[in-house]
Amino acid sequence: MKKSEKEDLKRRRLERLVSRIAMYKKDMAERLLETKKIFKNKVHAVDIHCHSNHSDGLGTPTEDYECAKNAGIDFLFITDHLSIKQKREIKKYKDASWGQEPGACHQHIGLLNNSRLFTPLKESLAEDFRKAGKLAPFVWIPHPAGWYPAQWYRDEQIEALWTLGDNFAMEVMNGANKTISAYDAFDAKAVQIWDKLLCDGKRVTAVGGSDAHIPDDIGSVWTGVSEARLEASSIISSLRKGNCFASEAPLMDFSCDGKPMGSEIEIRKKTKIKLSFKIADSAGIASFSIVANGRILKHVDAGNKTLLKDSITHIPLKNTYYRLETVSSDKRRAFSTPVYMVLC
Ligand SMILES: [Zn+2]
Ligand SMILES: [Zn+2]
Repeated sequence: MKKSEKEDLKRRRLERLVSRIAMYKKDMAERLLETKKIFKNKVHAVDIHCHSNHSDGLGTPTEDYECAKNAGIDFLFITDHLSIKQKREIKKYKDASWGQEPGACHQHIGLLNNSRLFTPLKESLAEDFRKAGKLAPFVWIPHPAGWYPAQWYRDEQIEALWTLGDNFAMEVMNGANKTISAYDAFDAKAVQIWDKLLCDGKRVTAVGGSDAHIPDDIGSVWTGVSEARLEASSIISSLRKGNCFASEAPLMDFSCDGKPMGSEIEIRKKTKIKLSFKIADSAGIASFSIVANGRILKHVDAGNKTLLKDSITHIPLKNTYYRLETVSSDKRRAFSTPVYMVLC
């Protein structure tokens, strides 16, 4: 085969791949739209984490934005590493905004809508995280277990999460280098770390970000934000309250005694609480679990129903948190931010 023929073949293969991904993203966008109709509650799919060519992303901010729209993402934050110059191009879209994701000591730090460029000192994660919180109305920890597929974090990098105070947000699913779906061993580890933090009494909001460096990867995972208008400030306010979940497709709502995800519930000793949940996925739900203090309290095989709505009552033990997780028929996950019990 001549060199020009080889190159032609390579180009055609690439074109075919790109068109397949586009078809796939369209399917996912339609699935999400259908799921929203079934679910009925207002919820937005927000990607809080992706990169453009203002750092190591391949696409321009506009290309990122267009891919997000094709994938059914309602709102996009472009979080380049050491730049907020993407802001200039992205702010012309009503349903997009900027942020930043610098590498810090031990971990990366994610910021949304920061007022100016943040440069970590890289001496202490806690100190940089606190400073980031002064520049940005919402900060979180991306990929806490490491970065797929290249790098598992060392114990000391993970242990640094325990220095972040009692209340922060963390990616429990990250889509780096994933085009189709996000959940992998790194996310399984992130969920494990999350339960450990929660068992130690920390309040850790669950978020998901695509961490896309190629625009086509946007849509692999996102954060479902409840009760927000489609604008950065309203979305950020829901994220701050923890009224959100990380998802690859299912929509969920979880509450305790009528209070939403992220709430503190004051309980008296030996008093029953009511946990209510609603899950939807137009492609079918395989199962769901309610997790309390790192253990499965209730697991249900859902038989591929597209909507589940129910509640259970339970008498909480001291310092309990409850969270909801679900798996769709094609193994897509969603994790709710917990509700937290406070004994009074
Ligand atoms: Zn990162
Ligand atoms: Zn990133």
